[in-house]
Amino acid sequence: MGVEPAGSVAVAAVSWRVRLLDALLTTDAHQRIRLKQCGRALLLTLASCSTMAYAVAVGDAPPVSTWLVIVIGGVGFGAFFAAIRAGLNLRFREPALTQPQIVFAIVMGATAYALIGPLRGGVFPILMVVLSFGMFALSTRQMIRLSLFAIAVFGLSMFVMSQREPQVYPPTVEVGNFFMLAVMMPAMSMLAGELSRLRARLKSQKVDLSAALLKIQELAIRDDLTGLINRRRMLELMTKECDRCARTGRLFCLAMLDLDYFKEVNDRHGHAAGDAVLQAFAKVVQGAIRNGDIVARWGGEEFVILLADTALPAAQGGVERVRECVQALRVAVPGERGPTEVAVTVSVGLTDHRPGETVAQLLARADLALYRAKAQGRNQLVSL
Ligand code: GH3
Ligand code: MG
Ligand code: MG
Repeated sequence: MGVEPAGSVAVAAVSWRVRLLDALLTTDAHQRIRLKQCGRALLLTLASCSTMAYAVAVGDAPPVSTWLVIVIGGVGFGAFFAAIRAGLNLRFREPALTQPQIVFAIVMGATAYALIGPLRGGVFPILMVVLSFGMFALSTRQMIRLSLFAIAVFGLSMFVMSQREPQVYPPTVEVGNFFMLAVMMPAMSMLAGELSRLRARLKSQKVDLSAALLKIQELAIRDDLTGLINRRRMLELMTKECDRCARTGRLFCLAMLDLDYFKEVNDRHGHAAGDAVLQAFAKVVQGAIRNGDIVARWGGEEFVILLADTALPAAQGGVERVRECVQALRVAVPGERGPTEVAVTVSVGLTDHRPGETVAQLLARADLALYRAKAQGRNQLVSL
């Protein structure tokens, strides 16, 4: 009989817990946050019910209506939880349903206030916790609206009870309680405003950071002058292509290009003109290659083309077309006696990837082919 290692028991326990939480709270990150929040509200309601149950037990609250309110509170938040779990909340503009939940809790709180007599002071801290749920999610305006609603509903509860049971709810005490509430609510709204501004700042900082990260990622893989991908990115792509070909048995070719006598372009027309030629060259190559082929600036006036899914004969045709387009290129640059046109040619070494070959071996052969193209007189394609 096999003995299961202790680690696997722990892993099984963890995955069991994870599965249970996934079933209860879904795997959608946003819905999970909303369900957790609603679950906390439900727990808070149940915890607050203990005060109400105590009020019933000591004879301060009418049993039937108090238990009815406890059940309505539990069922109400249970229904919010079920609605969010079922995804019904997604139809609303504020899918967390924070406002309706707070409105419901305020009404429940004001009802409890009217029921539990001498113990009603306990409702105020609970009301603060209820509103603090909104502070993290709602705007100042929404919080002010909810605060006014709380003042109105509690005020009504206080007024009605001071009229109906003045011995338990003496009007003088209720007026004091009302003032306390009326002072606390604006303070909560102010805090909510602060938090709301903080959230907005964090959000905009997050957006800025994401944009900066995208830019940095782009800079890391792109050549500034030509806009082509750089050597680092091309090496990554070549390695990926090698791996893909090893898996699928597909073919690809690699061409290494080097502009001919480019130093002379710089010497004769200046470095800025050289830059303009490099930019024009990059554009021409990009326009001449097929969709799916990738060109990179390898360094200086050297470029590399990766021809995916291409065998050597087809690649030869494609790269020869590139060479001809470069030969036909004329780049206007400023000269001593007005604008002048610069023509360039390119030498190309082409090779195909062979099974089991590394990127370094492939590059070495492409480099050798390029060397031969140069040695044989330049402005030509040599394949190996
Ligand atoms: P070959 O036909 O043998 O390739 O001759 P070449 O003159 O092209 O080769 P060499 O390696 O002697 O010179 C390359 C020149 O490319 C020298 C360098 O200044 C120029 N170069 C490299 N990068 C840039 C660049 O970004 N801008 C400009 N304007 N010139 C560059
Ligand atoms: Mg060179
Ligand atoms: Mg050169």
